[in-house]
Amino acid sequence: MTRCTTLDVAGRFAEHYRTLFEHVRDIVLMIDAESGQILDANQAAVLAYGHPHDELLACTIFDLRTESIDQVGEQMRTADVGGTLFETVHQRRDGSRFPVEVNSRGDTLDGQRVLFSIIRDITTRRELEALRDEFLVLASHELRTPVSNIGLRLQQLVRNGERGGTLERALGDARLALEELRRLTHLVDTLLDAQVARGQIELQRSDVDLGALVRTVVERHRGHAERLGSTLVLQIGEVAGSWDRVRLEQILTNLIMNALKYGSGKPVRVAVAADGAQARLEVQDQGIGLEGDDLERIFEKFGRAASMNYGGFGLGLYIVRKLVEAHGGTIEVTSEPGHGSTFAVRLPR
Ligand code: ADP
Repeated sequence: MTRCTTLDVAGRFAEHYRTLFEHVRDIVLMIDAESGQILDANQAAVLAYGHPHDELLACTIFDLRTESIDQVGEQMRTADVGGTLFETVHQRRDGSRFPVEVNSRGDTLDGQRVLFSIIRDITTRRELEALRDEFLVLASHELRTPVSNIGLRLQQLVRNGERGGTLERALGDARLALEELRRLTHLVDTLLDAQVARGQIELQRSDVDLGALVRTVVERHRGHAERLGSTLVLQIGEVAGSWDRVRLEQILTNLIMNALKYGSGKPVRVAVAADGAQARLEVQDQGIGLEGDDLERIFEKFGRAASMNYGGFGLGLYIVRKLVEAHGGTIEVTSEPGHGSTFAVRLPR
């Protein structure tokens, strides 16, 4: 009686293991440690290699590997003795290849040495690593520019002071250094905000006069606009609502900086108006504009449409969208390539 129960339990366990084996997302192979013959393979293996199950059992591990027999043999011995974890490349039935991480160890099964290998397709991980590396290069480059410019301005300021230069000149250098510092701060904030935007954004709501807020933010950018040969034109209506003031400033700052950056030195119009139960905020430029394909992509993380000459992380509009959505609002862009873009934000009041 007791024996029968034990068998039942063992049988059920075997069944569970089989289910686990078949359904895990990782590839699982059981291989003869001597010959490399594949003794068993799960469903994930069939999908990954493109061999039907019976065909896979007619293969050896050497058919799936791209290195020399000697190299693979050496790795099998290491796995058999103490277990091993390594990265390599496997090939599919059609000859295409993919990167994998292999976790393999030996065991004795009915007197036969076998290797159990759990194999993970790391294509996505590799792509993310490549993206991260690319981003680090871009980020260092972006941050480097304002840092060098600030250094340059300060050097000029000191030299000017030592030579008894005018106060006016000194002020000019100091102002330019401050502007570069603002740019640097904006870049660092963007990096931090991209992190925040991934999760739930906490809003600090208070009564906000949107017109007054827009006026303040626009004034901050007048100097910058002037240096780019652009003017900022304001159309302010009376709109009040309960919003997060700092986040609104951020939304507007990003849109204005983009309008100036991609605005080809032409005028930029910033408008605020009440629109029923909503506030409507518009930033319009007459610059390079956007192609239809890019109209949605630019709101995604790292979504960029302009050439590398423009610089930037491709995070600004992603953050803007997240901030607008946190307020229950929407953002959309209309554009004509070569003639400018209009970014329109709607916020429930
Ligand atoms: P960044 O400017 O750092 O690349 P953003 O997220 O702010 O990142 O913008 C994403 C992309 O959208 C930009 O790379 C650019 O191609 C496009 N873009 C944003 N604003 C404008 C605009 N006013 N006119 C034309 N293209 C724009």
